[in-house]
Amino acid sequence: MAETIQSRLKRVKDRITEAALACGRDPKTVKLIAVSKTVPADRILAAIGAGVKDLGENYVQEAREKIEALGRETVSWHYIGHLQSNKAKYVVKLFDLIHSVDSLKLAKELDKRARAIGKVQKVLVQVNISGETTKSGIDTEATVALVRQIAPLDNLAICGLMTMPPYFNSPEKVRPYFRALKELHNLIRREAIANVHMAELSMGMTGDFEAGIQEGATLVRIGTAIFGERGAAARG
Ligand SMILES: *Cc1c(COP(=O)(O)O)cnc(C)c1O
Repeated sequence: MAETIQSRLKRVKDRITEAALACGRDPKTVKLIAVSKTVPADRILAAIGAGVKDLGENYVQEAREKIEALGRETVSWHYIGHLQSNKAKYVVKLFDLIHSVDSLKLAKELDKRARAIGKVQKVLVQVNISGETTKSGIDTEATVALVRQIAPLDNLAICGLMTMPPYFNSPEKVRPYFRALKELHNLIRREAIANVHMAELSMGMTGDFEAGIQEGATLVRIGTAIFGERGAAARG
């Protein structure tokens, strides 16, 4: 018999708890974001029924339909995909936290759109910690400067950093990148920039979230381990 979302979710939560306890962290300091891109609304509803409180989406149009169908009363929605400035006006209306701010141009557009609807938009700065040219995110060396430039924007609140390392599904290869993001996080914290609260570290996916937790993740973004392989999930 096929495994249910409920049993998969329970196992993921147990693994998060174990990983946190094993490195002396309070499991409550790690929040699970269930990544529901390409997953149909009825399966997301099953996950919500099983206790999911945070959902991550990558595509604006797809997310808009789901958020309209499922609502925002009982769950928080996270935008984790690559974001272009021309989508800014939609994402500020839809999402509680945007994980993928990686340029001043995008930040200014989000700030403007958030101001227009009277919102202070929470954001994370996405860092290209591996320096791969194919990856989204601001270069590691340019991150502090970008944070300083975004900080004065009144309708954005920087809450931390996010990364998408190479070698996902290979925790020991990914670990140095997680560690580097944590070090950058600490460095920015020590700068004590006004209006910046380096609380969150969004790192770790299905293949490597335990390593993420060991290296300090406060947000783990997990899709496959909860909803199954995305191709299969999409076919139903
Ligand atoms: C798809 C995606 C995830 C989830 O990946 P899984 O391996 O299915 O857990 C996490 N973060 C981002 C940015 C993603 O695009």
